[in-house]
Amino acid sequence: MNTPTCSICKQKEAYYFRPYSGEKLCRGCLVRSIEEKVKATIAEFKMLEYNDRIAVAVSGGKDSLSLLNILAKIELDHPKASLIAISVDEGIQGYRDKALKIASENCRELGIEHHVISFKKAYGLTQDEIVRGLENKEKKEMTPCAYCGVLRRRLLNIGAREVEADKIATAHTLDDETQTILLNMLHGDPLRIAREKPMTDQVHPKLVQRIKPFCRIPEKETTLYAYTKGLFFQDMPCPYSSEAMRNDIRIFLNRMEQKHTSTKFTIFRSIQRIRPAIEDITKEDEMQQCSRCGEPTTQITCRACQMLRQHQDKC
Ligand code: SF4
Ligand code: ZN
Repeated sequence: MNTPTCSICKQKEAYYFRPYSGEKLCRGCLVRSIEEKVKATIAEFKMLEYNDRIAVAVSGGKDSLSLLNILAKIELDHPKASLIAISVDEGIQGYRDKALKIASENCRELGIEHHVISFKKAYGLTQDEIVRGLENKEKKEMTPCAYCGVLRRRLLNIGAREVEADKIATAHTLDDETQTILLNMLHGDPLRIAREKPMTDQVHPKLVQRIKPFCRIPEKETTLYAYTKGLFFQDMPCPYSSEAMRNDIRIFLNRMEQKHTSTKFTIFRSIQRIRPAIEDITKEDEMQQCSRCGEPTTQITCRACQMLRQHQDKC
């Protein structure tokens, strides 16, 4: 049986079949096509200015390290732009400490400065301590990830301001984006969809704009990118990864994608089309400063302060 050749270079042996385009790609053409798609996404959503200082959120996993590598390559063509990697150390022993070492090693190889900010220093608590506090409670209203997500998001923003970044780039893939869209609906919070866009608006001087250059790249391809480029990354899961509903949605979407190719792209594009209407409804939620920490929020006290207070009260 003849081995199929790459649909792009027509020379090398195909290594990956891209179901949504029908292309068969060799390793080199797959890597180049992902890099080109990222460039096209950045251009289409006007994510970057020629002289931006970009803080790349690096966890040490395959997606964030693939993003760091691609942005480092793109940055070579933009001498006035600069990159810095930011990692949040949530304080998860045996997991994040290992990931941070891997992240640092990758940054060193790429010659990119690495800035680490920790829960312990910022909040006086590690994620391990927060989870121990949750275990002591009789009724568990919130999962470890619910705390971690809010506290990390705030810290990433503070860290980006500390390094004077113009943008924060995160490695959310097409899979993450579509899962989040469905999660917001299933949690009864569809208006959040307005805020989760490929590039956030400049709504407050203390809120650094976020960009998601991987929003149209399926996770399978970011994984292949990392393996094909021989990147060294952390692949063990977080011991607290307990988002049961997200996992169910992931399985559901993957099944749908297998049976009906491009389901994830269709969801992504549908939301792009209806987002302006949702944004019109949410415009009244003006940003102000949190009465406790001074960080931007739409409420009197920000979600992070509410959570930290709840945690103190319960322990
Ligand atoms: Fe935090 Fe949950 Fe991610 Fe672990 S899986 S790092 S607890 S958000
Ligand atoms: Zn606050």
